[in-house]
Amino acid sequence: MTDTGDKRLFLTFDDGPSALYTPQLLDLLAFHDVKATFFVLGEASIQNPRIIERMLSEGHELGVHAYDHRKSVWRMSREEFGRDLDDTLAGIAAASGGEYPPPRFYRPPWGRTRAFSHDEVAMRGLTLVKWDVMAQDWQASMSARRIEARLRRRIFPGAVICLHDGRGRVPQAPARTIESLRHLLPDLLWEGYRFETL
Ligand SMILES: [Zn+2]
Repeated sequence: MTDTGDKRLFLTFDDGPSALYTPQLLDLLAFHDVKATFFVLGEASIQNPRIIERMLSEGHELGVHAYDHRKSVWRMSREEFGRDLDDTLAGIAAASGGEYPPPRFYRPPWGRTRAFSHDEVAMRGLTLVKWDVMAQDWQASMSARRIEARLRRRIFPGAVICLHDGRGRVPQAPARTIESLRHLLPDLLWEGYRFETL
């Protein structure tokens, strides 16, 4: 018998939703009854309300990433950063029709933070979450097979895994991410891993 005692994994997806890729990803997750956490953009949420609604109704967790992900916190004033968080929260609320509780988690774009960003995030009741395993799935040199191999090497029980379903320098990158999960998810489930939201 497989021991499932401690084998939890946390899939997280940043930079979406993407009208093209996120529905494919949600189909795959639904097929395996796997729940994930999506750190979405405010702008993309407003553009894709049906996808936001679908994520929530299918039991996924939504977190805050950024409004449009164009400017690093290193180049923002405290006021600008606070406004970015508020605009993102408002975008998510508008897209979800206000029917769901507000996000509880925040992932900093590029993992970058400052003293004031920690404060602004906490003031809004958000918990800052980075990651344990970065798939590097946005990189031009990555393939589905390499993403899969990298994740296999690096995961451990309890790991927070960072993947991307949205915009990036390589427009078709999410297709590789989804393809890697198509192989990886059934294997890991068979090995006794469970996938949970944060
Ligand atoms: Zn990002």
